[in-house]
Amino acid sequence: MKSKESIKKYILQDMRMSHIYQPEMLMTILDCGGKATVEEIAKRLLSRDTSQIDYYGERVKQMVGRVLVKNGIVKKDKDIFELTGFEELTEPDIAEIRADCENALNEFLKTRGDTAFSHRSKSSGYISGSIRYRILTRARFRCELCGISAEDKALEVDHIVPRNKDGSDDESNLQALCYSCNAMKRDTDSTDFRGWNEVYKHREESCIFCNVDRELIAENELAYAFRDKFPVTDKHTLVVPKRHVPDYFDLYQPELNAINRLLAEIRESLMLEDSTITGFNVGTNIGESSGQTVFHCHTHLIPRRDGDTDSPRGGVRGVINDKQSY
Ligand code: 5GP
Ligand code: ZN
Repeated sequence: MKSKESIKKYILQDMRMSHIYQPEMLMTILDCGGKATVEEIAKRLLSRDTSQIDYYGERVKQMVGRVLVKNGIVKKDKDIFELTGFEELTEPDIAEIRADCENALNEFLKTRGDTAFSHRSKSSGYISGSIRYRILTRARFRCELCGISAEDKALEVDHIVPRNKDGSDDESNLQALCYSCNAMKRDTDSTDFRGWNEVYKHREESCIFCNVDRELIAENELAYAFRDKFPVTDKHTLVVPKRHVPDYFDLYQPELNAINRLLAEIRESLMLEDSTITGFNVGTNIGESSGQTVFHCHTHLIPRRDGDTDSPRGGVRGVINDKQSY
């Protein structure tokens, strides 16, 4: 049995802290009379998550608080909400109103189940916990638009092409956004969304990369990949956005993400299927002077093998022949 001294020693000397969890968990157990459930502990951890509090603070001010004020149920003074006529309520009145709220809440949860919190994701499709986790891990717990860390702002998983505009639930159509970036998206009305979806559908009839002449190696919502017709090395692959767009710097962030994911996926499967591959060059030519010949943006993924050239040193520096090696 741990004595007070040994618990104190653990807290003051041995506890290695990479986050706030341990002290909060111990305090919860202490506050709950020496035992606490997982849920009790989890709720307490959540109450320390300032980004979540921030998020729900905004919801209180912008949504629920507004509605209740508008209907005269509560009054607002700066940061404080007050129930109208509270001073006239007796103890039993309070208990009765409280019970009415509890009933309304339970009724709602019963009918909406898991989707009760789906308003938190942009296109209000329910995204399961495990998919959410995979998308957040893939984004390395940073907003894929502004890059802010999940530690600083709550991240939400969002449909790139909204569900109600035929966007799929496929992982390639999901992205991690902080609530600010997601809220900005939320402000755009549905006409704008339709506009955006149309933008991604742009193709050019005469373009050889809008109308690929060979089998697709891989594909996601916004990009696809196929083998180069005149490969520099065996399995030389081109990754292109589906949208017809001349060069790399015209790409939107979701397309950059989509292209990057395909590059990583294809690299991984190439490594598995071809043990002779020992390296890669990834490159994009932008503009005629750089050597671009097809004006539908594409990224070359060129597998490299030991000995495939006498002097590989310098790699992409070889765009200027005699400068490759230094
Ligand atoms: P760029 O020089 O514009 O960076 O690269 C164009 C690439 O597209 C070249 O590597 C070339 O071999 C490849 N390519 C050109 N025409 C075709 C084609 O019709 N089909 C495919 N799959 N690749 C092509
Ligand atoms: Zn094109």
